[in-house]
Amino acid sequence: MKKIVIALDGYSGTGKSSTARKVADELAYAYIDSGAMYRATTFYFLENNVNPEDLEAVVGALEQIEIGFDGVNVLLCGENIADNIRTMRINENVSKVSSIKEVRHAMVAQQQTIGKNRGIVMDGRDIGTVVFPDAELKVFMTANSRVRAMRRQKELEEKGIFEELNTIEHNLEERDKMDSSREESPLIKADDAVEIDTSNLTFDQQVHKIVELANEIIHAD
Ligand code: C5P
Repeated sequence: MKKIVIALDGYSGTGKSSTARKVADELAYAYIDSGAMYRATTFYFLENNVNPEDLEAVVGALEQIEIGFDGVNVLLCGENIADNIRTMRINENVSKVSSIKEVRHAMVAQQQTIGKNRGIVMDGRDIGTVVFPDAELKVFMTANSRVRAMRRQKELEEKGIFEELNTIEHNLEERDKMDSSREESPLIKADDAVEIDTSNLTFDQQVHKIVELANEIIHAD
């Protein structure tokens, strides 16, 4: 059976990651969370006091950074840091780090290597435009910012982290603004992407929609 690449892009908090994970599960595909790679890099920068303005320090750090995935674990130089990268501290710094050209080039190269055999679902901001412009299925997910903030708040609460709704909504909007306006591969909908507004969809509905689209492509001759 034909193996395809599914690129899932969109704004922060639209449920891309959980949707992508479930879609991958249903198709028995690998799931790659590209945002986790930018988050892991940001974590490394913060832990090692790498100044994002200092290009030499950034390039030096990128040489040290090795990111891997093992199920739900995110490995930074072999150590699982999955629980350290979904904090407000990372949320507040990740868009700055991910706007650095050298950081993006390093991440995109790794992502392309991971997906070279196809059979993957990757979510992010530039997957359908830059990482896999030849992806067979591109989806662009949107939702209004209040709904997104409420979903993110619930997700944080499940981890025992309590954050004001307004703070979360403000952070989501700030990240969207930075992600959409950066010079290097900004967040934009690819021309050939299918847009799905998830504001009024349940999780199962959005998964079902994407799996259906994927199956049409996989089973077409
Ligand atoms: O998807 P997630 O919210 O975890 O991504 C965190 C941040 O990583 C985004 O706000 C964005 O700045 C950056 N990112 C990116 N390109 C990607 C994935 C994430 O710039 N492909």
